[in-house]
Amino acid sequence: MSLSIVMKQVTKSFKGEGVETKALSNVSIEFKAGEFVSVAGSSGSGKSTLLSLIGTLDQSTSGEILYDSVNVNKLSQKQLADFRFANIGFIFQQFHLIPTMTSLENVMAPLFSRKVPYDKKERAQELLKKVGLGDKLNSLPSQLSGGQQQRVAIARALIHEPKWLLADEPTGNLDTATGDIIFSTLSALNKEKGCGVIFVTHDPALAAKADRMIEMKDGIIIADREGMHP
Ligand code: ADP
Ligand code: MG
Repeated sequence: MSLSIVMKQVTKSFKGEGVETKALSNVSIEFKAGEFVSVAGSSGSGKSTLLSLIGTLDQSTSGEILYDSVNVNKLSQKQLADFRFANIGFIFQQFHLIPTMTSLENVMAPLFSRKVPYDKKERAQELLKKVGLGDKLNSLPSQLSGGQQQRVAIARALIHEPKWLLADEPTGNLDTATGDIIFSTLSALNKEKGCGVIFVTHDPALAAKADRMIEMKDGIIIADREGMHP
């Protein structure tokens, strides 16, 4: 499994009433297949914008994003949906589980109406066991703690075996101990499955545990250094 990401002079501006905000300014960076990268920086520094452009959820104003030789700027909406399904899993601060669905149903949701060469339910069960929720398969999100809900969301993000996991402050709503468990879960999955992880966090202690740490400020990357390699 390998797929590297290259961003070439990527700028993203938002135009409001007469004012223009540059959320990203001319960012060039490469993420190597399989690496675990943290992205830190204060609120408004451009972390979520960076992640949504990499995740092809939004389009840059200028510049290019390449996954190996695939220039995602050139893909149609339909091609992008298939590209994301093949390559990218998302995890968010707010979990975004469907409240009326059980853990198992939430994890299988990305496969809805997709033909896949494996048993959907079996794979979902396996993943929920792997994140430590083998006894919560039929629980609703409201019956789970925040940390458990985020682990359901991690299993859901992995159901289609993405090559990259993009996590936007996944520990932001959790206490420190629970945040550590989420980090360790992602770190173990990164090693076991080889999927790259881009992990946005406010927490410097967690950021430092990644293979590589990036720091953003005012839409640019101000630091890019080695982490502690968990
Ligand atoms: P972070 O995730 O680091 O807090 P964001 O990427 O969300 O930062 O935002 C970077 C900058 O872009 C901020 O100034 C923010 O207000 C602005 N911004 C982000 N999204 C939008 C949007 N949809 N419309 C207008 N401005 C936006
Ligand atoms: Mg953000």
